[in-house]
Amino acid sequence: MTCTAAGDCLRKTGLLIWGRRAAMLRVRNDRGGGSVGVVAFFRLLSGGGFVINGSVLPSAADLLRWYDRHRRTLPWRALPGQSADPYRVWLSEIMLQQTTVTAVIPYFERFVDAFPDVNALARAPQDQVMTMWAGLGYYARARNLHACARAVAARGGMFPDTVAGLLELPGIGAYTAAAIAAIAFGRPVVPVDGNVERVTARLFALTDPLPGARKAIARQAMTLNADAPAQGRPSDFAQALFDLGAGICTPRAPACALCPWRDACAGNRQGIAATLPRRAAKVARPVRYGVHFCMMDAAGGMLLVRRPEKGLLGGMMGLPGPVWRDTPWTEGEAMQHAPDAPRLRAKWHGTGQVKHVFTHFTLLVDVYAAQISAFPNSIAGQGGEVNYAGEEAVALPSLMRKCVALARASHVFD
Ligand code: SF4
Repeated sequence: MTCTAAGDCLRKTGLLIWGRRAAMLRVRNDRGGGSVGVVAFFRLLSGGGFVINGSVLPSAADLLRWYDRHRRTLPWRALPGQSADPYRVWLSEIMLQQTTVTAVIPYFERFVDAFPDVNALARAPQDQVMTMWAGLGYYARARNLHACARAVAARGGMFPDTVAGLLELPGIGAYTAAAIAAIAFGRPVVPVDGNVERVTARLFALTDPLPGARKAIARQAMTLNADAPAQGRPSDFAQALFDLGAGICTPRAPACALCPWRDACAGNRQGIAATLPRRAAKVARPVRYGVHFCMMDAAGGMLLVRRPEKGLLGGMMGLPGPVWRDTPWTEGEAMQHAPDAPRLRAKWHGTGQVKHVFTHFTLLVDVYAAQISAFPNSIAGQGGEVNYAGEEAVALPSLMRKCVALARASHVFD
């Protein structure tokens, strides 16, 4: 919407906020155009904050001042005065999905050592990428990461610099597109991750529970950058929000006394900050059951199979075993799926159970182990692959690493 006069805009939006010191905010179009429209009306308060669409907005200048003093140093983050590298920003954002900063740092450093730019990553064999990703989980992300690198390489190694352009790349959703657009390209958008969601729920004392309230909280979060200091430093503003959520407005015990936004924070004022955001009672996570077989020969080779492309851990190497199901396996049922070959004479030993929690269910896996003298050639014909290089050389997902560790601890292979 473009308005030519304040009164015109007021009529079009129906907003009631209008005071002695009122103004219209104009922002750049995320597609790269110039100033294209009025997004909000705000009223300057005597304390320096704003009222926007009925809510008091905290001052971006306060947050940015705090950020300038307390910003984290991270391997993917540009230092003050430097320009952000879109490749490093993108790589870190993909790695950080569902994973902590501490866990990501060594992976990130290994990746940029091996693949210093997006073209190098695009040229790498997929197995190498998957092997280096192993342990970060959610392997579809690693496949999409590689596909995305190839798509960007096909564009001459340049990432699109708008939210809309980024959204067209494999593995980039709304949050990641906003994060890259803001941090790497200075687009004035607010990426709403878990940290920003928590800060926003507390700032505005939003008490409706997640996940139902997620969209409403995100809409509110997107207004946080409405004032001029935030519009002038979109990259720093987004990262300042992340740092505030990670270091001050933490999940269990927010350090409100140290917070640059404490005076504007309704959650703090009402004494309910630590309880926000609220969550609806959790539905119990269902349990599924699996069986996997760890077979080794005297030379230390381990039988592995490639999992089907579709489904969890799709395309990854793993221990053989039947499809997971909703009921436990008896030993007799399990043995019907044990790897077999003429003259193999494997003697299977139950070694215990591995518990692995996926997002939507908990998996309990019975692990069996057997040692044989040597693998027959016919194993390859059955889709098996004998790995002599050790598990570290293969992109084994965490679940499979746990199963192998349990089998090894049983001393069947001693
Ligand atoms: S005052 Fe407390 S609850 Fe409010 S944003 Fe700051 S740290 Fe979070």
